[in-house]
Amino acid sequence: MSNITPQPGILDITLYQGGAAHVPGIANAVKLSSNENPFGPSEAAKDAFRKASYHLHRYPSSDHAELRGAIGEIFGLDPARILCGAGSDELISFLCQAYAGPGDEVIHTEHGFGMYRISALANGATPVEVPERERVTDVDAILGACTDATKLVFIANPNNPTGTMIGEGEVARLAAGLPDHVLLVLDGAYAEYVDGYDGGASLVEARQNVVMTRTFSKLYGLGGLRIGWAYGPDHVISVLARVRGPFNLSSAALAAAEAAVRDTDWAEKCREGNTRWRAWLAEALGEHGVPSDTSLGNFILARFATRAEAEACDEHLKSEGLIVRRVAGYNLPNCLRITVGDEASCRRVAHAVGQFMATAR
Ligand code: PMP
Repeated sequence: MSNITPQPGILDITLYQGGAAHVPGIANAVKLSSNENPFGPSEAAKDAFRKASYHLHRYPSSDHAELRGAIGEIFGLDPARILCGAGSDELISFLCQAYAGPGDEVIHTEHGFGMYRISALANGATPVEVPERERVTDVDAILGACTDATKLVFIANPNNPTGTMIGEGEVARLAAGLPDHVLLVLDGAYAEYVDGYDGGASLVEARQNVVMTRTFSKLYGLGGLRIGWAYGPDHVISVLARVRGPFNLSSAALAAAEAAVRDTDWAEKCREGNTRWRAWLAEALGEHGVPSDTSLGNFILARFATRAEAEACDEHLKSEGLIVRRVAGYNLPNCLRITVGDEASCRRVAHAVGQFMATAR
């Protein structure tokens, strides 16, 4: 026995279960469980990654100036107010480290992304789960849940795993209605998939209590390299800059991300592919008796009649080499989250769900 104990909250964290990439015995299995881009990163990003490998003995840039400059240029934002992290996961972690500790509350929504809870607990803060309205963020419920102890409110818009989103007017109402000691974090991991949506950047410009997080893991197909960025008011960015280690992003990641963000043609192709096959897949599953809410992300939340039916369908999909995500851990036990793949994968999923449903009820 030892008396070595972790900080309060740490043992309340449920270990994150990463999805498998393979099904034993099946050669052409396809992973549709992590909302990755089925088309992969742009050739320019891969090329930049390879070139960066010539200089691996050098430390990377510590201020990320080139990547921040490229993001600023492409999205029309002030690079001085951008801060880069190892995926948006790390930004969520920085935000909790900087703003939430023992005695503080961190609000997230009922089916919100799991990292909010993990990071709150890891910093000794108390995660507070707020109900949604039919799988959609409920602004009034969030405003009603705020207390003197609330420090952060996280909402993902669009949300993972529901795929739903609230309009910019609702987000603005939330930002304006929060007590002035609360920081609103708009997680825009899927923002690029939404036509004409800036992820909340204009709200960041207009207010002092909003920060936006974004990622290169989804539309840009660089999940393996771990790159995300935050855009916020000066006072927030200067706080996060103090928490961030000087070399938190590798030189290869920085180079690939810069090339990726500049390759707007590739991003547009990926976005179009997603829009097209997401609609097709949702309709095909609906025809097989499996409904889903309109998703704005690169995945669909397929709703089954019961948990047992969802799990049996998951088993069938696996036997067909299709790896999707169970979301019971997100309080959605009768659902499966299915990443929108390329055409062939979407057709395989629709076919397999059809086979399953033909015998299920
Ligand atoms: N936020 C949301 C809503 C997500 O779905 C994810 C990834 N699943 C992340 C943040 C984290 O993404 P990353 O760390 O790869 O940027």
